[in-house]
Amino acid sequence: MLSAILSGRTCAVCRNCCIFEEQSAWELPTFSAEAASRLPESYRKTKDGARYRITLPYDETHAAQPCPFLDNRTGCTLPPDEKPFACSLWPVRLMRDESGEVFFALYCGCPGIPAEKLPAVHELLDGGLRARALAEAERDPSLILPYHSNYIRIG
Ligand code: SF4
Ligand code: SF4
Repeated sequence: MLSAILSGRTCAVCRNCCIFEEQSAWELPTFSAEAASRLPESYRKTKDGARYRITLPYDETHAAQPCPFLDNRTGCTLPPDEKPFACSLWPVRLMRDESGEVFFALYCGCPGIPAEKLPAVHELLDGGLRARALAEAERDPSLILPYHSNYIRIG
């Protein structure tokens, strides 16, 4: 996540991240084939292009599931080198609308980045994050998700 502008305290209270309802499973991050091969064999994965997405064990009593790398107390347990880029960019996403245009979008439900913090997000994007994210998306097209109304377009 964008730790440069997100308060850890806000996240600790919110605790909205890294838990996915079944209808949000399309938002789970993906791993390269190499990184996926280092994950425990017990993790079920589905292929998305050249990448792999963890399949969470949803059933009638578990409609929302934590990412298997989430520790309730300490957050993400993956080392920085293994963490998917999408997780570092959150709550900003690269999205594509129906016309095929790709843009940056901000998750509307993140209390850590209210409207008054948008200039700080733009500063990060202009300071190199935009170029890095677009370069990552060249290598990993799964980084670009279809537009969803839970997001606002920011650039
Ligand atoms: S939704 Fe925003 S504030 Fe809440 S845990 Fe996620 S990044 Fe933090
Ligand atoms: S890999 Fe880490 S940051 Fe990404 S969704 Fe899972 S627990 Fe969260």
